[in-house]
Amino acid sequence: MRLNRFDPGNIRVSQGGGGFPGGGGGKLGCGTLVIALIGALVFGIDPGQMLGTIEGVQQQGQSSAPQPQDASTDPNTVCTRNAYSLESCNALDSLNRTWQPLFAQADIPFEQPMLRFYDGADRSGCGAAQSAMGPFYCPADQGIYIDTSFYDQLDRQLGAKGDFARYYVIAHEYGHHVQHLLGLDSQVRAAQQRDPSRANALQVRMELQADCYAGVWAGKHKDLIDPGDMEEGLGAASAIGDDALMRGAGQRVTPESFTHGSSAERMQWLKRGIQTGNEDACDTFAQEN
Ligand SMILES: [Zn+2]
Repeated sequence: MRLNRFDPGNIRVSQGGGGFPGGGGGKLGCGTLVIALIGALVFGIDPGQMLGTIEGVQQQGQSSAPQPQDASTDPNTVCTRNAYSLESCNALDSLNRTWQPLFAQADIPFEQPMLRFYDGADRSGCGAAQSAMGPFYCPADQGIYIDTSFYDQLDRQLGAKGDFARYYVIAHEYGHHVQHLLGLDSQVRAAQQRDPSRANALQVRMELQADCYAGVWAGKHKDLIDPGDMEEGLGAASAIGDDALMRGAGQRVTPESFTHGSSAERMQWLKRGIQTGNEDACDTFAQEN
């Protein structure tokens, strides 16, 4: 996808340090990291999963993210750290420009999310962030957290190649921000608490909607899409389907424990978003009675 260079005035970013200020980030050795990574990929790449496990903390706390004193928030510094951060900032700018007017049209208050880069470990408003968790969105501080080394894992371990595979990741997390601004995440949490037996199914709907929203962003910029982008995105969506991850980890595929949707579902909803370019086409809850 051919994105313009970010406008520093149109994005919110920050750079976390490597590890916690207290040094907790250093405790993961290489072997631990690989095992933790597999676990994280299986049990949830992003805070969709965290919603289920630490929602009590989120709901009671709503704490703002502790910002280290030395955290840089200058896009010109943060976004030029490496090629991945530049790509991410370019996508973030485009995502802001795409979603902000839609909220304005609907007369719903909009706030830009903050894209937070970190190395290894960090703190978020939703608790500890570790690269093994994969990229995630934290509703409590409206932050998208990413250790860009995830993109190397996406390429090398999961075989999802190409720039659009990476844009899809950011756009998916941004989709969770959209859900948060619409109040969908708290509605889903409430429904999950009312009926825990539907918690996973509802979680999957949330994730598939974020996939669809990611596609909608791209679908609104069809002129910027390169040949092969669709395939790259669908390849990534397939690679991080719950069934593919379970198989990859040598586990039996158990649909009832899915949290993000199967490869086929993730591809289907991303594709639907791209093809329609219409956020109204993303009602993944419609089939859920
Ligand atoms: Zn997600």
